[in-house]
Amino acid sequence: MILSSAGKPFKNKSGATNTIRIKNIAGEPVEIEGGWAIQANQAKDVKCPGCKQSFHETTDEYNPDTVANPSMLTLKAKYMEWGWENVPADATAGFGCLECPECGHPLAPNGKLEVI
Ligand SMILES: [Zn+2]
Repeated sequence: MILSSAGKPFKNKSGATNTIRIKNIAGEPVEIEGGWAIQANQAKDVKCPGCKQSFHETTDEYNPDTVANPSMLTLKAKYMEWGWENVPADATAGFGCLECPECGHPLAPNGKLEVI
C-alpha cells in the first residue's frame, strides 16, 4: 500500500494529479507524480472493430500486454439496464467468444481488445 506524507492510505481524486511524497536516500523529500495509480484501475471503452461502437468497458483485470479473456471487460451499466446479457467473467475462456452484442463481430479478432 502507498501511504501519503501524512502516513494515510493514498486516495484517488477524480481527475486530479496525485502527488506522492517520499524521501530519497539522503532524507530529502522527493515528489513523484502518481497518475499511474489512477490509470491502472480506470475503465476504458472497448470499441467493436466491426460497427465501431462501444458497449463494453474494461475491468481491473484488463491487461493490454496479454491476450484478452472475458474477465477483462464488462457490459456498460446502460446496456445491462436494457436487459442485455453481460459476458461471463471467466478468465479461462478464450477471446474467441467475445462478440459485439450489436453486430456480432469478434471484439478481439487478433486476441487484443481495441480500447479508446
Ligand atoms: Zn459491433
